[in-house]
Amino acid sequence: MSTEGRAAILEEPGSPAVIREIVIDPPGPNEVLIKLAASGVCHTDLTVKNLHGNGMKFPIVLGHEGAGHIEQVGEGVLGLEVGDPVVIAYRAPCEQCPACRRGDPRHCYMALRPQQRIRRKADGALCSQVLRCGTFSTHTVVHAKAAIKMPKEMPLDKASLIACGVVTGVGAAMNTSPVFPGARVAVVGCGGVGLSVIQGAKLMHARQIIAVDVNPTKLEWARNFGATHTVDASKLDPVAEVRRLTDDGWDGGVEFAFEATGIPKCTEQAVKMVSYGGTATTIGFPAAADAVNLNLGDMATGVYWNKVALRVCHCGDALPSHDFPLLAQLYLEGKLNLDSMVTRTIGLEDVEDAFHQMETGDVIRSVILL
Ligand SMILES: [Zn+2]
Ligand SMILES: [Zn+2]
Repeated sequence: MSTEGRAAILEEPGSPAVIREIVIDPPGPNEVLIKLAASGVCHTDLTVKNLHGNGMKFPIVLGHEGAGHIEQVGEGVLGLEVGDPVVIAYRAPCEQCPACRRGDPRHCYMALRPQQRIRRKADGALCSQVLRCGTFSTHTVVHAKAAIKMPKEMPLDKASLIACGVVTGVGAAMNTSPVFPGARVAVVGCGGVGLSVIQGAKLMHARQIIAVDVNPTKLEWARNFGATHTVDASKLDPVAEVRRLTDDGWDGGVEFAFEATGIPKCTEQAVKMVSYGGTATTIGFPAAADAVNLNLGDMATGVYWNKVALRVCHCGDALPSHDFPLLAQLYLEGKLNLDSMVTRTIGLEDVEDAFHQMETGDVIRSVILL
């Protein structure tokens, strides 16, 4: 039997998100139907809107940072029961690509996807789901392996944040470029992802964490989340300042620099911030034509002479079935701060307002309560 609900939908290119009634078909084999409890509003949803669907077919159900309870399980689903609290992973390893076949699911090329099960009630049109999730909705259907069970005591509004921003940032420092104890770290950009990198670096016992941003409010947040130093890049040259703060008689520089802005110039800065043999990691989404200029030959900061490694982080190189419960446990033990990441809670009808706040205001995360 079908289920009825409501979702924030993009109906055509250039249109705002609107609330529409939806009909959700029962889950098929290896799928689960989830009644959502909360969904974080991530910048990628705004990007999908601004890029006119970014190649997805309309109508589109927005949202990919969701948590809720299993309401129906499809045929062949193991280990999940009705009522289980879950977080939805947008990258559940596909089990078929070359990386999965060689036993390296953190570097899976793609992700498991469900069949389309959500229809717009007015005309029956099948809806696409952002990143196979579609969490700005009362209900969604996802692949069963993308539904990651949470401990019963985990609050779902906080759990939802794990799905994208937090696992990306913490994972960058734990998995993509594992920070070693005693390392020095710089983080360029202190939004939700950058603050999560700072938390990850702290969890990995970095001895110095330098936060860089042009917004004083974000630098204050960075201190609260564990940064030991801050650099206001609107007033100081961030590369020179990071190297000065880390100058130990060996030209300064950090072992790990992370870019969390999506701005190409910030990736160039991260590359120039590292010490000899250091690692720069780029996290933010670039636009199709974005490019960076990497100097090779400068004796102090050139990629060749400074022997710089440049890595790319996709979703924190996460293995959701392992990492999501770990992050929940760290939260429950008081070691991962998710409470301060929720700047405000909103209703489904406030999605457009949350997008507006994201572009103009000082907000870490708006969380939709469903
Ligand atoms: Zn996201
Ligand atoms: Zn794979």
